[in-house]
Amino acid sequence: MKSEIVVIGGGVVGASVAYHLTQRGARDVLILEREPQQGMGSTGKATGGVRAQFETDINIKMSLYSLGFFNDWEVDCEYEPRGYLFFATTSEQLDYLKRNVEKQRELGVKDVEIVDAQTIQKIVQGMNCEDITGGSFGRRDGFIDPLAVMRGFTEGALQNGARIGFDTRVLSIETNTGRVTAVETDQGRIECENVVLCTGAWARELAATAGIDLPVEPQRRQIVWARSTEPLPADLPMVLDIGSGFHFRPAWDFMADWTAGGSPATTAGRSKPAAGRTANREVLFAYPDPDEPPSLNTEFDDTFIAKVYEHAKHRAPFLYETEVVREKCRAGLYENTPDHHAILGGCDIKGLYFANGFSGHGVMHSPATGRALSEIMLDGTASFLDVSCLSLDRFANGELLHETAFI
Ligand SMILES: Cc1cc2nc3c(=O)[nH]c(=O)nc-3n(C[C@H](O)[C@H](O)[C@H](O)COP(=O)(O)OP(=O)(O)OC[C@H]3O[C@@H](n4cnc5c(N)ncnc54)[C@H](O)[C@@H]3O)c2cc1C
Repeated sequence: MKSEIVVIGGGVVGASVAYHLTQRGARDVLILEREPQQGMGSTGKATGGVRAQFETDINIKMSLYSLGFFNDWEVDCEYEPRGYLFFATTSEQLDYLKRNVEKQRELGVKDVEIVDAQTIQKIVQGMNCEDITGGSFGRRDGFIDPLAVMRGFTEGALQNGARIGFDTRVLSIETNTGRVTAVETDQGRIECENVVLCTGAWARELAATAGIDLPVEPQRRQIVWARSTEPLPADLPMVLDIGSGFHFRPAWDFMADWTAGGSPATTAGRSKPAAGRTANREVLFAYPDPDEPPSLNTEFDDTFIAKVYEHAKHRAPFLYETEVVREKCRAGLYENTPDHHAILGGCDIKGLYFANGFSGHGVMHSPATGRALSEIMLDGTASFLDVSCLSLDRFANGELLHETAFI
């Protein structure tokens, strides 16, 4: 079997890369996915947050492009600009948010502002704001449905002539004299000239088969799903404590829509997921557990519930006076790099490209990522946005980026 371009991994990133490549005229594109359907990796576990409130220029620009894309896309990906509220509990944290907002505005982020505790109290009624020194609120940040984004990209790619092979695990990437020649799968060998590695948290092992050390480390992230006795505050945005990383948002059941809808290969033409959002009494909350070691463990651990409720207890009755919906609590994997920024582009091996290491931002940055990879592969460089600071060689060259708002 042969294909000019093989995209390994059918999550939101692989789907976006395939879509953008085929939009630009590439036709012989094959996505290989080891599972029987898409959405079984991190994309199906994501919270669905999208934001332009970052610290580094590149993250802000990737978000600006992607938010515009979600807003204008003919596919309904359920983009809802409910806002992101970061709050601070020390003056140092507030200064940090102020510096970020200044930079975000300089780069063109609209509707982002510094807010005081009284304003925060109005935005999130019922929240304890006694210890809050202020915050930043970005009105165009908000939510999307990660699976609808993935489905939209996949359907677009398939309509443009791409193919997708399920139940096909790539075992290794073959190279000869410094260029890609094939991938070996559990279904046989596929000759190809180009490979894009989009296997999320599982990328490092496959890159190693081509002799590349890709510094992507998996880490479990857990989310508690709970039902409140009281209705949640109206128009609740994403709310984040910049100090601890504790965050919460109203819960929408993307996965129920997805399971009801099946894989995109069987629902071609349907861009909007079936109705299935839960009422405004259900809430998601989480925080980055500092004791969580790197691993590929995706089992939800019940002891996490007590840990996260410690944060909830202090913050609001509508978080604390809740009943855990245990069957909807979940655990997935972040794909962290040493500087918490993605790795985009090629390497010393001709024809081998990476779209990895999103460190928890892969859904929101998927439009910019797909476009960047397609331009790098087809034109030699990304011209819509300079993403050269995200290349793999930054680690060897000691040119790491710096983002503290890693949540
Ligand atoms: C709890 C949680 C909350 C998150 N919240 C957000 C959020 O609010 N906003 C946001 O932008 N991001 C969020 N993220 C991060 C986001 O989910 C990821 O960055 C994104 O889904 C990465 O997409 P991907 O396609 O690279 O990876 P995945 O979705 O993991 O897809 C990789 C695919 O590769 C396949 N695969 C792996 N190995 C092989 C192989 N050898 N052969 C063939 N196929 C293979 C897997 O089966 C999988 O389908 C969150 C993540 C978690 C865990």
